[in-house]
Amino acid sequence: MRRAADVIVIGGGVTGASIAFHLTSLGVRDVRVLERRFLAAGGTGRSVGIIRQLYPTPETSAMVLRSLRVFQRFADAVGGDAGYVACGALIGVSRAMRPALEATLAVQRALGIRAELLEPAELLRVEPRIDASGLGAVLHEPESGYGDPTAVTHAFADGARRQGATIEQGVEVVAIHRRGDRVTGVTTAGGESIDAPIVVNCAGLWAGPVARLAGVELPIVVGRHPVFIVERDAAFGGPHPVYLDLAGGAYVRPETGNLTLTGSLTDDETEHPMDPELLGRDTGLDEATPVLERTGRALPRLAEARYRQGYAGAFDITPDWMPILDESPVRGFWIAAGMSGHGFKLSPAVGEMMAALITRGTPPVSALPFALARFTGVRPEGTFVASYLGAPEGR
Ligand SMILES: Cc1cc2nc3c(=O)[nH]c(=O)nc-3n(C[C@H](O)[C@H](O)[C@H](O)COP(=O)(O)OP(=O)(O)OC[C@H]3O[C@@H](n4cnc5c(N)ncnc54)[C@H](O)[C@@H]3O)c2cc1C
Repeated sequence: MRRAADVIVIGGGVTGASIAFHLTSLGVRDVRVLERRFLAAGGTGRSVGIIRQLYPTPETSAMVLRSLRVFQRFADAVGGDAGYVACGALIGVSRAMRPALEATLAVQRALGIRAELLEPAELLRVEPRIDASGLGAVLHEPESGYGDPTAVTHAFADGARRQGATIEQGVEVVAIHRRGDRVTGVTTAGGESIDAPIVVNCAGLWAGPVARLAGVELPIVVGRHPVFIVERDAAFGGPHPVYLDLAGGAYVRPETGNLTLTGSLTDDETEHPMDPELLGRDTGLDEATPVLERTGRALPRLAEARYRQGYAGAFDITPDWMPILDESPVRGFWIAAGMSGHGFKLSPAVGEMMAALITRGTPPVSALPFALARFTGVRPEGTFVASYLGAPEGR
């Protein structure tokens, strides 16, 4: 059987669901999301869901602020519950990083981001459990926190459905068709062909192989990013804010049931390429030990926390650790991938930007920093930590 759609979105993670929601909000009628497993089965379902605002450029800062405003009024803007908890975020930097933090903050404040720079000693009044002795400064973002990536994905998908989209789960795209330099549709594993003038690659950790189906190469590495869950003991006290220790290389975010999610901020994901099919597998204590040691140095009282579980996560990483949001050289074949560990918090703005670009409208924020062509000739180099704190020249 042959079918047709106006737009095919490949991948039912938070990116694909948000794009479907925003396209249908603009009145695009027949949008089909094809998801090979189930909604949020990929990186989204394993995400830690932190929403922080410190980003290095005006464009990324504007994107995260637009997204935060959506999370803050999610029921009205999208419908449903984003699980957004405004517990605040603290970001600790070394003395060497402080000038870059100050410069980045000045740009961010001009855009309306609420954040204050604390001296390490002032941290006592906000979160005395953090060891500030090795820090050069701490940024406090009172509106930041975390959300529920799976719930957000379902809410975007439900909203898209209400506006006319079709979400098909258990449908894998195995071929992408072109006529000359134009995309014309896809074939599914079930043997069905769907014609469409626009196909959007939102396949996250699988975006590289999916792009190759259309003859497009993406500069994306899938890098391992394990997450560990510990249970806080009674002596730790109440819940803690999100803490991102850029100086020491660890992060923590609270979870219900006295649990804390923790992982590394050490920039080494690209050195550990991972088969995305291993997503969610248990990790061993060997992998947990150095991470938990760093966490224990950042929040000494967490050193006593009981280890509960670790699982394999992974990021789809571009050379500059920023997303690709662009049409590929194959006309009508769009890319929204390479989220590089930012894809949850940016998802509302990514959906808004992609819907504007696809419908040839004006994007709310310049899309130039997210163009695929930025990797042609010069290969920008980035790190995860540099995705917080200013361009390399500012570091
Ligand atoms: C451990 C971990 C921690 C993270 N922490 C944070 C955080 O704190 N804050 C933050 O903002 N971001 C975080 N991220 C990043 C963020 O969660 C991701 O960038 C985002 O969820 C990616 O969403 P996506 O929709 O682009 O991709 P995915 O969620 O990977 O979705 C892609 C989907 O495409 C489907 N698919 C693949 N191939 C095909 C095919 N051929 N046909 C049909 N469907 C296909 C997959 O099944 C999958 O469901 C984290 C990610 C991980 C893994």
